[in-house]
Amino acid sequence: MTARRSNPQLRKARQHFQALARLLPMLAGSLVGQYVTCGKPRCRCTRGQKHGPLYYLYWKEQGRSRSLYVPREKVSELRRQIQNYRRFQTELRSLLRRQLRDWQRTVREERRR
Ligand SMILES: [Zn+2]
Repeated sequence: MTARRSNPQLRKARQHFQALARLLPMLAGSLVGQYVTCGKPRCRCTRGQKHGPLYYLYWKEQGRSRSLYVPREKVSELRRQIQNYRRFQTELRSLLRRQLRDWQRTVREERRR
């Protein structure tokens, strides 16, 4: 445990991983703007001038697509959170790639001994 804790690569990886928390809050979904008809028979939307965009958040839950209406005043906050989630994914991927490279290097060095 002490040896592991003093491993500088692992210490760096832990710091990097903890730094990812700065991206909270984040949302794993996508925001979709939709133009809709309201159903009133004489409304302008029946002549092609649809209402909107109305925003919905889409996400997957156990393989099923789910969605939720998002009030206009929440849209920019949600966009930021979704952007944060994308950043999180990108940074996590690069962290994991680095872990893999470190691991490869370790195996190679141990074989050389
Ligand atoms: Zn309408």
